[in-house]
Amino acid sequence: MSSRISVFVGLGSNLDNPVRQIRAAFSNLTQIRNTSLEKCSSLFSGPAMGGQKNQADYINAVAMLTTTLSPLDLLGALQENETLQGRIHGERWGPRIIDLDLLIYGTRIIDEKNLSVPHVGVADRAFVLVPLSELDPELVVPNLGKVSELVKLVDCRQLVRLESTMLSEHFK
Ligand code: AMP
Repeated sequence: MSSRISVFVGLGSNLDNPVRQIRAAFSNLTQIRNTSLEKCSSLFSGPAMGGQKNQADYINAVAMLTTTLSPLDLLGALQENETLQGRIHGERWGPRIIDLDLLIYGTRIIDEKNLSVPHVGVADRAFVLVPLSELDPELVVPNLGKVSELVKLVDCRQLVRLESTMLSEHFK
């Protein structure tokens, strides 16, 4: 029997009611075969990164899973979930209904054509590191170090943790 691996997945959306999209994405993670959704972070709001400045703020979160799927099978399942939610893979930095990134897969370091793990964004993205540290500050990101140390190095000023009272406003 293969052993279960702890995995962290980053979720992001800035289209079509992003809070609802992130909640649907959490729910859809529970449907992935041979995989359990263990923990969900709070939801965070922050400005878009990358080249396209004129787009809506993002809602981001991180989920912790355990799985016996291989990294590539899990990536495939995440991409199926993106498609299920209506993601059309277009412009790299464009607005998106849902983005699911395989951030960390146990202690593995993977550098393949279609899969880099830890995800390239883990090192310097507040919207990844802040929810990750909420789930497990002691977590060590392979090659990079402890999340609680990495989070001190990023600018978190524009990231807002959505309290439950604020969430209803995002359902407009
Ligand atoms: P994105 O536009 O962020 O959804 O990027 C999707 C592309 O990134 C796909 O072609 C994936 O094969 C590739 N990719 C590489 N590493 C990862 C990863 N750790 N998680 C998700 N997608 C990845």
